Amino acid sequence: MTGVRLAEVLGQGAAVRLLLRLNSRNRLPPILLLAGPPGSGRRTLARALTAALLCKEPVAGDACGHCESCRLVAQGDHPDVLATSHETEIASRKDEAERIREEFVLGAYDSPLMGERRVFIIHGIDHFLKSWSNALLKVLEEPPRGVTFLLTAGSADGILATIRSRAQIVRLAPLDHAALTAVLVRQGVPGNEAGQLASHGSGSHRGLRRLASAPLEPLRHLAQEGLRSEWVLAVLAALPTKVQGDGEEHGATLAMEQRATLKGWFAALAQELRRDLRDPQRGEAAADALGRCQAADRDLARNIAPRLVLEGFGLAALETQLRR
Ligand SMILES: [Zn+2]
Repeated sequence: MTGVRLAEVLGQGAAVRLLLRLNSRNRLPPILLLAGPPGSGRRTLARALTAALLCKEPVAGDACGHCESCRLVAQGDHPDVLATSHETEIASRKDEAERIREEFVLGAYDSPLMGERRVFIIHGIDHFLKSWSNALLKVLEEPPRGVTFLLTAGSADGILATIRSRAQIVRLAPLDHAALTAVLVRQGVPGNEAGQLASHGSGSHRGLRRLASAPLEPLRHLAQEGLRSEWVLAVLAALPTKVQGDGEEHGATLAMEQRATLKGWFAALAQELRRDLRDPQRGEAAADALGRCQAADRDLARNIAPRLVLEGFGLAALETQLRR
């Protein structure tokens, strides 16, 4: 089973070594704040640390990766793990403070169901409203025995000082090129391609996921052959249907996520077209298509809906052909 061991977390060597050392000595503090930019792997690290904390047969502070507890953490089904939902940012403010009070504050005094410890994961605490933070303060001031709080944030700065002062801060660096490449290779992208993608993945897992899943085939058709609804539909069908990963920590809406995704795909296509510029056969067409990519990019920046952007992109290709 991959992905639940601290040793497998890529690109965060210093943080991982610190956490392994503390956990192997049973010295992890009850409140940890994982602070790093989006895409640095905060969620991956929080999950691996959760597995290490709950593992039935830990090895040198790390999870074994195959016991029942590790399996349940990997599936997101462990009964002693409580995490803030992906909907946190869009839930109504009053309801969320109430839910946090009930689940994370009152619930902290319940007994573990499987082992001796419970792990509460609270993502994006730097974006918490004051009322949510205040709801949490009481339990963070004096965490009940056997409960570990893992908080994540973009930086430690935006957090209520009273919370920050109680947490041990673990700082995560942005992933470097080698770590990004390794993440892609693990996702099944061939090595040489992974290196190239990593150079254009806007320095994060999220940027990379966008590129790795790009429906470049239909986009290429739209760029070269003009508007056909089946190609537009193929691209639209590949767009995300919910806000994912770190997005919801930053209040991203689905429309924002879709536009950002499409922007990434156009960037990947433009990258291909730039390679064609020097080709005597395809250079001119590539230059035209590149111009249309830039126009599509501007449309996206003006908040035009993905379908309209794609149709405009295909229509412009058609016009260019007719002029030739
Ligand atoms: Zn285990």
